[in-house]
Amino acid sequence: MFGHIPKKGDSTKYYEILGVSKSASQDELKKAYRKAAISHHPDKGGDPEKFKELSQAYEVLSVPEKREIYDQYGEDALKEGMGGGGGSHSPFDIFESFFGRSSFGGGSSRGRRQKQGEDVVHSLKVSLEDLYNGTSKKLSLSKNVLCPKCKGKGSKSGASGRCYGCQGSGTKISTRRIGPGMIQQMQHVCSDCKGSGEVISEKDKCNQCKGNKVSQEKKVLEVHVEKGMQHGQKIVFEGEADEAPDTVSGDIVFVLQLKEHPKFKRKSDDLYVEHTLSLTEALCGFQFALTHLDGRQLLIKSDPGEVIKPGQHKAINDEGMPQYQRPFMKGRLYIQFNVEFPEPGTISLDQCRSLEKILPPRSASHLSSMELDECEETTLHDVNMEEEMRRKQQQQQQEAYDEDDDEPGPRVQCAQQ
Ligand SMILES: [Zn+2]
Ligand SMILES: [Zn+2]
Repeated sequence: MFGHIPKKGDSTKYYEILGVSKSASQDELKKAYRKAAISHHPDKGGDPEKFKELSQAYEVLSVPEKREIYDQYGEDALKEGMGGGGGSHSPFDIFESFFGRSSFGGGSSRGRRQKQGEDVVHSLKVSLEDLYNGTSKKLSLSKNVLCPKCKGKGSKSGASGRCYGCQGSGTKISTRRIGPGMIQQMQHVCSDCKGSGEVISEKDKCNQCKGNKVSQEKKVLEVHVEKGMQHGQKIVFEGEADEAPDTVSGDIVFVLQLKEHPKFKRKSDDLYVEHTLSLTEALCGFQFALTHLDGRQLLIKSDPGEVIKPGQHKAINDEGMPQYQRPFMKGRLYIQFNVEFPEPGTISLDQCRSLEKILPPRSASHLSSMELDECEETTLHDVNMEEEMRRKQQQQQQEAYDEDDDEPGPRVQCAQQ
């Protein structure tokens, strides 16, 4: 709302919601709200959205300062903070301040509003072995429970009084005029009752929880990690989070965090492992034992006459990860072979001659001395290609960055490179 004044029509909606004229008195507003709020209360099967709208409209129009702002500038001005916001309270708070708590059914539990407690999220480290075999982990957590002695009332007698400081709302609101027609509103937690809206007399306080209504308890949870579960998967203990009066306890949620395995990598239901062969093994055959995630020894061997090339993959069916909730179904185990060639200087010239007799002949391109004369001499340098590519990439990024600095032209060009 900077620099322009909202249209007139912006400030009639709240009157329409309550079904009153713009000149309605405070009494007429009250009557209109009372009638509509009872028939639209969600506890009586009303539409929660409609109920919220009603409360919002009434909350603004019932406070003269807010009504003044609304009449002049409309709903947006309130939302932008001139009057402290249009919906700072829960619609039930307003209803209760109007009709009192337990307005329906004479104190039945239905009429008492239940807050939703917060969920507590923990991460749970698991190994790939845990996800392959399944496991259960016992975890000790401390949580708030309703005091068993006073059953969460906080008092010996079971009674509590409404806090005078805040009229039971748990919050106090202070207003400050900051300009013509502008009011700043601040909401604080009531210091008398620490936000509970209730006070218990010193004498009547429960001696076990000192009037706090809750006490701490150690609880052991057994978390079942099932075969085939994934990194990031959630295991939920419904309603096991902190207990508090008039609150539906939240859940305790464990999120699985997979620790990296030194040997196996997982991609969905498949497992990947690398194995390095000597050149002799790659050419003449190999056999080795691979310890699986459940401790079994798998015998891996080549077929007679088989030659393994560097980087080649082989797969074993049904030795991958078990599927979640269908653990008898398993993915594949992929083995990537690396081939280690002999170090320079380890093969003598004599041995080379012997090798040449066995191995396929050299490529046929023999150069005549005439052709050799026409060639230029070159020098071969050792390079680490990974490092080389990394350096080139950095160089390219720096250049692209420098270009961006010069002209903030179309960025699409960068993406196409
Ligand atoms: Zn107690
Ligand atoms: Zn209070």
